[in-house]
Amino acid sequence: MHYTGTIWRPPYEAWSALIQVTMGCTHHKCKFCTLYEDLPFKFKMSPQSEVESDLREMSNYMPDARRIFLVGANPFALSAEKLRCIAALAKQYFQKLDNIGCFSRITDITAKTDKELKELRSCGYNRITIGVESGDDNALQFMNKGYISSDIIKQCKRLENAGIEYNIFYLTGISGKGNGTKGAEISAEVFNRLNPKIIGCSMLTVYKNSELYSEIQNGNWHEESETEKIAELKTLINALTIKTHFAALGASNMINIQGSLPADKNKLTEALDKLLSSFSEEEMKSYRDNLPHL
Ligand code: SF4
Repeated sequence: MHYTGTIWRPPYEAWSALIQVTMGCTHHKCKFCTLYEDLPFKFKMSPQSEVESDLREMSNYMPDARRIFLVGANPFALSAEKLRCIAALAKQYFQKLDNIGCFSRITDITAKTDKELKELRSCGYNRITIGVESGDDNALQFMNKGYISSDIIKQCKRLENAGIEYNIFYLTGISGKGNGTKGAEISAEVFNRLNPKIIGCSMLTVYKNSELYSEIQNGNWHEESETEKIAELKTLINALTIKTHFAALGASNMINIQGSLPADKNKLTEALDKLLSSFSEEEMKSYRDNLPHL
């Protein structure tokens, strides 16, 4: 298999067949992000011969796979034509294939026509994951995400119209010190206008090789305490009114919680209260400072 650098996939894609079709990120400008820093280039597409040989090899390990997750920061940046070719190729090797997922940026959806989105749905693309991070425009702009909340709403609605289901990721802590609760409230307002199948949450962990670290050193941005981040997460859960699956999983979250909203709202916030009463700010900070890798 061709896997280049660290491979990232959402926790809920653990059972999908992972096929590399791109390496790195087309954007590569988010101030907090160090995910693809181990690559000596910004973005590359895998040659078709490599994709095909990986599909062939993977079909030996997972012959009955029903779902493939395309690896790379944003394979949805590929042209609709390329994505259709990958789907056609995948179907040759996986007879039971139902659907194909991948990470996408909001701007990758913008670049496709409505007709292309519908065609991509009919050839199998579904449940794509978008790291929208926040609905707080100040945070999105400061972090160089390359879009604002109105773009999130517009492009996710276009996915819905095309019948493509999607999951979104929220980044707890992105609004900065003193703004966590407000950022969560604004984000919930945005998310409540959408229909994500899953809202995943990661928690901001600032690494020294990030641009955000330099901004902090220069006094331009201040990090939320761990206590503020937990309060922010609770605010987000409480302010969400849509039916969705909520999942704060992965190493960046000191405890992993998940459940259905709105039914499990109390269960989720009680777990966060328990975390707050069990650990001091210093202990939670020490957990984050000692996270070698996300
Ligand atoms: S957060 Fe996502 S879009 Fe931003 S630079 Fe990192 S991989 Fe690319």
